Amino acid sequence: MSEQKCEIGLIGLGTMGHNLVMNMADHGFAVAGYNRDPSRVDALLAAAEGRDIRGAKSFDVFVELLRDPCAIMMLVPAGKPVDGVIEQLLPLLKPGAVLIDGGNSYFQDTERRIKELAEKGIHFIGMGVSGGAEGARYGPSLMPGGPAEAYERVRPVFEAIAAKVHGEPCITYLGSGPAGHYVKMVHNGIEYGLMQLLAESYDLMKRGLGLSNDELHTIYQEWNEGELNAFLVEITADIFTREDELSGGRLVDQILDAARQKGTGKWTSEEALKLGVPTPSIDVAVTGRYLSALKEERVAASQVLPRPAAFDGDRETAVGQLRQATYVAMIVTYAQGLALLREASQTYGYSLDLEGVARIWRGGCIIRAAMLEEFRRAYLARPELPNLLLDPDLAMAMREREGDLRATVQRAAGLAIPAPGFMAALAYLDSYRSERLPANLIQAQRDYFGAHTYERVDREGTFHTEWGAMSAVG
Ligand code: NDP
Repeated sequence: MSEQKCEIGLIGLGTMGHNLVMNMADHGFAVAGYNRDPSRVDALLAAAEGRDIRGAKSFDVFVELLRDPCAIMMLVPAGKPVDGVIEQLLPLLKPGAVLIDGGNSYFQDTERRIKELAEKGIHFIGMGVSGGAEGARYGPSLMPGGPAEAYERVRPVFEAIAAKVHGEPCITYLGSGPAGHYVKMVHNGIEYGLMQLLAESYDLMKRGLGLSNDELHTIYQEWNEGELNAFLVEITADIFTREDELSGGRLVDQILDAARQKGTGKWTSEEALKLGVPTPSIDVAVTGRYLSALKEERVAASQVLPRPAAFDGDRETAVGQLRQATYVAMIVTYAQGLALLREASQTYGYSLDLEGVARIWRGGCIIRAAMLEEFRRAYLARPELPNLLLDPDLAMAMREREGDLRATVQRAAGLAIPAPGFMAALAYLDSYRSERLPANLIQAQRDYFGAHTYERVDREGTFHTEWGAMSAVG
């Protein structure tokens, strides 16, 4: 074992921290691990098996194990635990130390921490990490932001452990301030949207078309082999084959239909509302989880509001259209999230490179998908693209399939199967490509009841009309 000091240390040896330490050690780095509950340190050392991993059960010993300037990554729950760890570490850190928060921290907390720590000469990096336990162990997607010079100190470690796609690491320095945690937040918002679409497609096929779990497995597997190739599609296919040891049936049928959330989807929607960016596909995914949680009320409502319809069409056609609709709706979901990133970058001065974001989302993370290669190409061709739907190739792909999305939405409505994700995607598409929207009427109403004024299509200026008297005042 090397006597040299460790290249980096990790605090919080839970699911993510433990696996990241193993990943770093596999890439030849000497790594130190600390955990509040010392049994996790013992578990890490037991798993080390000859790798250069050192354990510490106090912060003093932990910091002593690290080379100068020290680099420390925290993998603890967002919020107070992060501030608590920083508070305990601070007296032990020398100026120049690099502290990285790899948790799902709220970007405004990261911004505050960057400023507070900079005053003490400590560099703070907010780094989004995606890929779950498997990704952390064998290659996550990493989204760092913060002081650029501090990122250089840790870049070799993180480029080595990140997932690789065509030899390119799924990590790039995203920008100043909390840019990394912001991008991770939007990643999770898109994740909510994609999961909602897949859940709706399942509902349509199972409850609507009456397909079996085995048929669903085969269909999602086929989807995953084509242009819908995506991690979430792949795991969805897998889920339908898992037997339940307790009931003897399939596990998926025994899982309570009430979805939980930790808040990153809601943060994305709140941010989008704050910045005035439409993200309906993410919004309906967040509220869809709230609706699912109203289990008791839904059971009661199902008695007084029975579902009206049954399917009597051609299943193969319906599934084929659903496949195309899922492709279109997924593109629309990514487009909304990336449009939010574009606006946030301008508002907050992050200087985000969306081609880079698409590139690092191609591997390692939960929303990795073949279509990200297309998005990357679109941003390479036009870095300032306001919305992916304006890319000529993607627009063509949408045009070819929008009839399938429309048919799917009609079918869902006819069968009384809730499909807010597909409906929101279609409404977004139809709104975004409408040269003229009925917002003129809204402006007229606002002016009518509140004298809020309006602009005209045929001349400059602000106008108000005395609507009751039917006379215009310039
Ligand atoms: P786990 O629950 O598996 O582990 C949490 C770790 O944090 C444990 O080591 C725990 O220590 C430590 N911890 C908790 N509270 C405190 C505290 N107040 N002070 C010091 N240490 C504390 O969580 P994960 O590893 O899954 O997640 C860690 C972070 O990574 C979170 O922010 C999470 O949102 C994020 N993340 C998780 C992903 C996942 O798929 N799991 C994916 C991407 C990001 P102890 O053993 O003593 O309780």
